[in-house]
Amino acid sequence: MGRYENRGSARERGYTRRWDKARATYLRSHPLCRMCEGQGLTVAATVVDHIIPHKGDQKLFWDIEGNWQPLCKFHHDSAKQAEEGRGYSGEVGLDGWPLDQKHPANRIRPPPGGGSKV
Ligand SMILES: [Zn+2]
Repeated sequence: MGRYENRGSARERGYTRRWDKARATYLRSHPLCRMCEGQGLTVAATVVDHIIPHKGDQKLFWDIEGNWQPLCKFHHDSAKQAEEGRGYSGEVGLDGWPLDQKHPANRIRPPPGGGSKV
């Protein structure tokens, strides 16, 4: 445990030097934005995103295999803003359909195999 000046900064939320290092290592082995990749684009990732917002939870914060994803800045900003503002992700899959089950579009889509025939 290092002793740092407390500036009420990002450090309080876990963004320490350990994070800086782990993040850099992660981006070296995961160099492409996952969301761009899902759309068939090759864009360098510059941000490590926590898929599930960690909100200070160290377990979620350091769950590298399960809770980290590489994103470009654009997708990081847009995804997080959308998610935090609306409670669901605006990320879409290859078919152009939102991936998040909480997305309103998924609430009205009939379940696979269900739905009435016209
Ligand atoms: Zn992207």
